[in-house]
Amino acid sequence: MNAPPGMERVLFSEEQVAARIREVGAAIAEKYRGRDLKLIGVLKGAVFFLTELARAIDIPVQIDFLAISSFAGHGPGLVRIEKDLDEPIEGQDVLLIEDIVDTGLTAHYLLRTLAGRGPQSLAICTLLDRSIRRIVQVPVEFRCFEIPDRFVVGCGLDFKQLYRNLRYIAVMNPER
Ligand code: 5GP
Repeated sequence: MNAPPGMERVLFSEEQVAARIREVGAAIAEKYRGRDLKLIGVLKGAVFFLTELARAIDIPVQIDFLAISSFAGHGPGLVRIEKDLDEPIEGQDVLLIEDIVDTGLTAHYLLRTLAGRGPQSLAICTLLDRSIRRIVQVPVEFRCFEIPDRFVVGCGLDFKQLYRNLRYIAVMNPER
């Protein structure tokens, strides 16, 4: 695919992303071996990461998805569940799979909501972590990459619903 207009540079190549997801998948398998692991992906951004990650985890896993909407311009942290999980998570070891943890507000809300459903354990695994912009602290158990304070696309992350299907992560200047 041609580089998107406004793209400044590739931050992580296809090979770097794939290699890092394999490493994190192996670490997850080691931690959860013999347990009842469920991966919960947040639509739509986490879909690409979740499917790659799930295949890098060599223990049986269940997957489920939820969709949220956030209300930009209506104050920080206003998030609503638009599509809920299909199955209960009570008694399961749950990993919340995110494309990016930025301010942490979305992850904080989701952790609080999921914790109320009685999982055995609950942790976050994110493709990208931009911890410099954190507003609320959230425990990130697994991260593939820490990133600088720049807008990025690719590997599930969009600009106006485009570029999610790029196999690499790119820094983009939407103004250009
Ligand atoms: P948070 O609640 O942690 O501030 O934001 C999380 C959501 O903001 C992500 O799931 C993602 O949808 C969006 N987001 C934050 N930073 C970026 C970015 O650099 N690029 C894109 N495409 N989305 C972002």
